[in-house]
Amino acid sequence: MDLRHFEAVIDGRLTAAVAGGRIEMLCPSDGKAFATIPRCDAADVGRAVVAPRRAFAEGGWAVRPAVERGRILSRIAELIRAHEDELAALESRDTGKPLRQGRADIVAAARYFEFYGGAADKITGETLPVQTGFAAMTFREPHGVVGSIVPWNYPAQIMARVAGAALAMGNTVVMKPAEDACLSVLRIAELALEAGLPAGAWNVVTGHGEEAGAALANHPGLDFLTFTGSPEVGTLIQMAAARNHIGCTLELGGKSPQILFADADLDAALPVIVNAIIQNCGQTCSAGSRLLVEASHLDKVTERLRHGFRALVSGPHDQDLDLGPLINAGQARRVAGFAEEAERAGVPLIAQGTIAPASAPGGYYVPARVFGPVPLEARLAREEVFGPVLAVIPFRDEAEAVRIANATDYGLVAGVWTRDGARAMRVARAVRSGQVFVNGYGAGGGVELPFGGFKKSGHGREKGFEALREFSALKTIVINHG
Ligand code: NAD
Repeated sequence: MDLRHFEAVIDGRLTAAVAGGRIEMLCPSDGKAFATIPRCDAADVGRAVVAPRRAFAEGGWAVRPAVERGRILSRIAELIRAHEDELAALESRDTGKPLRQGRADIVAAARYFEFYGGAADKITGETLPVQTGFAAMTFREPHGVVGSIVPWNYPAQIMARVAGAALAMGNTVVMKPAEDACLSVLRIAELALEAGLPAGAWNVVTGHGEEAGAALANHPGLDFLTFTGSPEVGTLIQMAAARNHIGCTLELGGKSPQILFADADLDAALPVIVNAIIQNCGQTCSAGSRLLVEASHLDKVTERLRHGFRALVSGPHDQDLDLGPLINAGQARRVAGFAEEAERAGVPLIAQGTIAPASAPGGYYVPARVFGPVPLEARLAREEVFGPVLAVIPFRDEAEAVRIANATDYGLVAGVWTRDGARAMRVARAVRSGQVFVNGYGAGGGVELPFGGFKKSGHGREKGFEALREFSALKTIVINHG
């Protein structure tokens, strides 16, 4: 098969790696190479950090009128929409996610640029009441050059929420997307040049995490770092930021609970609950991976889940089934390992889905699975699987539900399902997580909603206006006017 060759985007030009290395991109649906990207290393990252420094300082991106920055971001949104079919197909093939999910991600990416395009000239400071004769005011100023490391699960969306917010604030960006899936990022960075983004304002270097990623994270030319991915790499990022005395935001995943009380509307809840664990084949940091069920309703809910999961079909991205494949062979082994360990430990498998017969043997397919009741000490009840595996855990009362919901190291998203409004509010306030949905579940969705974690899910907030605060530093000016 002819491979399509993509290039890094450095200083406004499509660029191969200096050393000439390339990485083959495998389609998760069949495990076959269909494209290549440059294998950038420290030399390429060095070039990629010089460009935004120039674009920030001399190129004047930071001091351009905010409305002009906003217009360029809005044009990027328009161009993404104009290329929706192409980008959706690319995202779907690159990540393996069903085509409609790839399309939803591209629509969301456009929405991020639209949101931050509109927000760019709406960032205001404050005036502060100080003593008579003085005027005190605050300004939000860009950090400078933002380094961004993006994972493979939602390349277009995570790229857009970082680039949109950072650029809107007047920062310039060097981004290292994941070696497993990054083609939409490269293509959209190319479209951004077409939209009028100045050369060097947003650079994308591709390559391996421990090579290009580590070189970027440790580069002394950055002013801020932002990372989404595994807790292990998040630790390295935070250490790199500490060494260079810069700020960083980390988004490190979760083990998000959905709390289903007996009075909930089961017909409304169950489809959302199932979707929240199978979306993107469970490879979603905010996946609802624990279902806490009020014990009096456990049998009824278990029965409904048995039927629901049996009907779920995994298959190639372009068949647009319930689930696509996992991203790579390593993730497929990891997810299978969790399921095998649960079965060995005697955790009951309630049901599992099937794999479409036409699925290529080289693809990384796993069936959707639901286990339960899962003991609290089981790994399945505590660790992020990053696959389509739902753990059902019973609880006796509200207090126990909250205790179990909070009994992991993570705290990213939670869902509360009940018809009792006061209880919904009590539980939402008591759960330690960055977002709580009542009678719904956003799986991190919502361009407008601040998103980020408590505890080991990370720190800092992305999305919404809150991201503009993260991607800026506050300056206070005091004038003695007598
Ligand atoms: P990862 O953390 O290794 O990769 C995420 C990004 O970090 C990629 O761009 C990668 O190239 C880069 N990276 C890797 N090592 C690096 C290093 N030493 N320095 C700088 N950058 C580096 O994630 P993974 O190995 O692809 O997935 C492993 C697990 O991480 C998954 O099973 C899942 O639990 C978790 N994960 C979470 C998210 C999320 O959205 N929170 C996303 C992807 C993976």
